[in-house]
Amino acid sequence: MDSDRPSVAAAACADATIVIVGAGQAGGWAAQTLRKEGFAGRLVLIGDELHQPHERPPLSKAVLAGEAAPESTRLMKSDAFEALALDWRPGARVTRIDRAAKRLEMADGATLAYDKLILCTGGRARTLPIAGADAPGVHTLRTIDDALVLVPVLKPGNSVVVVGGGWIGLEVAATARKKGADVVVVEAQSRLCERTVPREISEHLLALHRSNGTRVMLGAGVTRFASDNQDRMVVTLADGSALTCDAIVIGVGLVPNDELARDAGLACDCGVIVDARCRTSDPDILAAGDVAVTPNPWAGRSVRLESWQNAQDQGIAAARSSLGLEVDYQPLPWFWSDQYGMNLQIYGIPMSSHRVVARGVPGSGSFVLFYLDGDVVKAALGPNAARDLRFARRLIEQRKPVDAQRLADAGVPMSKH
Ligand code: FAD
Repeated sequence: MDSDRPSVAAAACADATIVIVGAGQAGGWAAQTLRKEGFAGRLVLIGDELHQPHERPPLSKAVLAGEAAPESTRLMKSDAFEALALDWRPGARVTRIDRAAKRLEMADGATLAYDKLILCTGGRARTLPIAGADAPGVHTLRTIDDALVLVPVLKPGNSVVVVGGGWIGLEVAATARKKGADVVVVEAQSRLCERTVPREISEHLLALHRSNGTRVMLGAGVTRFASDNQDRMVVTLADGSALTCDAIVIGVGLVPNDELARDAGLACDCGVIVDARCRTSDPDILAAGDVAVTPNPWAGRSVRLESWQNAQDQGIAAARSSLGLEVDYQPLPWFWSDQYGMNLQIYGIPMSSHRVVARGVPGSGSFVLFYLDGDVVKAALGPNAARDLRFARRLIEQRKPVDAQRLADAGVPMSKH
């Protein structure tokens, strides 16, 4: 659209107040988009962190490695942020939504009326319900502040036990190794990232971590954390053995911050349920990002996506939808992870019912696994294969039948499918 002229929808909302709760990536994109679409009304952005809207992926990578400043993760430069003319409320927490009165209650007792409300409350790091989980020396990683506490801990001579071999745990492990710390990853399942990737990728990750000097223990549960007499931490495992270390990082997933929505009676299912227009069960309340459970044709059901791409795109979609603009948000999921210089990308949702076609040799440095339903590619993933995966994305989106044999042949350029 012409950015100098408000859309008809935005102009119609000129006297309205739109409130965004959660000033993370989705909230930040929602705010930018509302102004870009010409919304000139009151725009309130409330976040319980003190930081401006920012991206989290560097927090387990460059920021944790001490190679990038936290400010480098901001979505916008300061002048662009100022130019949004927001009623910006850092360090403020919304405690209740009064839907009947269309009013928010804040932790400091203040109230705030809204015409449209966009929930971008994300999630928080899951912890473990075991003794010692809240002891000093036991960390999780979700926020800039979490990362800054960990930066000095990850250094040569220190040892770290990472509990959980999922994405955050593995990225912390890779960064800790890069900084010279000794690392043990303790994973309760029989393989790494079991929930999100097939066995071949789990094995690739396992080999990668072991070859970089990380000790990985699979099928190992933890039962308690404690500190010993020398200021070190002790992790007790289910088999009774123990690991001693300087710090523990728990990376066992995310709990969606959907309590506000649930308490207000909005439909929720481990996240706030929205439609393809990002609307909750209350048409004046929308949701986006890690907290939203969204219809997804690639999954064949509604899913909650925890990814950079979704936080941005759904933040944009929710903002547009709140102005009454046409929105049909049913994204092809895309996720990436960086570990020890390896870039892994996943498009779509691989399912056990799919036929798997490998291009390149699983176990080698670079390969792609395609997931086919009949002759149609539904998902694709692999390490160090960004270029092939860009073409794979197109195949998935076009739903075009492919020749599986040619797809497996690395001699046939991906552009020829
Ligand atoms: P959040 O960023 O969690 O923002 C929500 C905000 O709302 C938070 O600040 C929260 O405190 C605030 N809030 C919650 N409740 C309230 C309330 N009641 N009042 C006021 N404020 C409230 N994705 C990838 O695709 N690739 C990666 O490599 C990758 N790496 C990651 C590394 C790390 C360390 C983390 C944590 C995530 C990573 N992700 C990655 C995921 C991606 O960053 C998230 O999907 C994205 O940040 C979600 O954005 P969001 O705005 O929905 O939620």
